[in-house]
Amino acid sequence: MATGSLSIDLDALMRNWQALNKATGENVETAAVVKADGYGLGAGRAARALARAGARRFFVAVAEEGAALREVLGRGPEIYVFGGHMPGDTDMINDLDLIPMLNSLNQLTRHFEALPGAPFGIQLDTGMNRLGMEPSEWAAVAEIALPAGPKLIMSHLACADEPDHPQNAQQLATFREMTDGIDVPRSLSATGGILLGPDYHFDLTRPGIGLYGGMPFENAEPVAHLSLPVIQTRELEPGESAGYGASWVTDKPAVLATVAGGYADGLIRAMSNKAMLFFEGTPCPIVGRVSMDLITVDITHLNTTPKSLDILGVDQSVDDLADAAGTIGYEILTSLGSRYKRRYAGGVS
Ligand SMILES: *Cc1c(COP(=O)(O)O)cnc(C)c1O
Repeated sequence: MATGSLSIDLDALMRNWQALNKATGENVETAAVVKADGYGLGAGRAARALARAGARRFFVAVAEEGAALREVLGRGPEIYVFGGHMPGDTDMINDLDLIPMLNSLNQLTRHFEALPGAPFGIQLDTGMNRLGMEPSEWAAVAEIALPAGPKLIMSHLACADEPDHPQNAQQLATFREMTDGIDVPRSLSATGGILLGPDYHFDLTRPGIGLYGGMPFENAEPVAHLSLPVIQTRELEPGESAGYGASWVTDKPAVLATVAGGYADGLIRAMSNKAMLFFEGTPCPIVGRVSMDLITVDITHLNTTPKSLDILGVDQSVDDLADAAGTIGYEILTSLGSRYKRRYAGGVS
């Protein structure tokens, strides 16, 4: 087998959800964000495991993701769509019981006209300037929206992964100004906001990345374990190079392993000459450029020829790998390609 093996630990996923759930008070519900195919790890499998752990509300980015999720979860769990009610979504929202987070008067009008009486939530913009109604729009829309009984009012923090960033407190204050006194469940926090403390928790939290083992949830357990088979090894003389552009040249005798996996599999080119793979805990640096399907790794210091090398798991978190490549764990996970042999472990009650 010459493709990488991506093993997804559903028990760790469930424990991460439980740990984030414990980080908030008894009256605070913990939902689960499974957009972008469950951060690249499989929305269906992830959501089923999270439902077993206790999650009752799920969030996706677009209606199509919600429709696919409904097939897997069946009736019961609530599925919210951050993108709201877009033109063409009406049948999906109606037939599959999706709850759009309405982001504008325009979306609210569309929803009320197309599906009168159907459930909805409201998304407010408290300073991120991405999605949701700004204070002036909300001031005008609230009197139309509130009598129809929204299921949830939410906003999203732009800087929650930096606890000292002044925008956190600003957005919190704006959210309070926009929603205090309204008798509708409120939600402000994703993973980062949960860690900012109880002022940020309101009635419901919406963690994503922390469930999947990523920062800013420092105590997250790794969920994705990725190992890449060694296809070939070779010995280099001093002065020889490896890979496209001969970007790495050895000054001493070296042994290289070529593993199956490359930028077409989400192991981005920025990892070239920067990131590490691991053999039983021993780091082995990527040398030369990452190519589409292959990576060359320096294994000179190993006293054995490994059958495979690990790139994600206990030795290296998604954030360690992301740091080496100048990106974030979210991007590493959601870029993982379709060529891996995926295995799911645990998750059954
Ligand atoms: C993606 C997203 C989340 C989850 O964020 P994490 O940082 O992954 O926990 C929550 N709310 C909204 C609006 C999002 O877009």
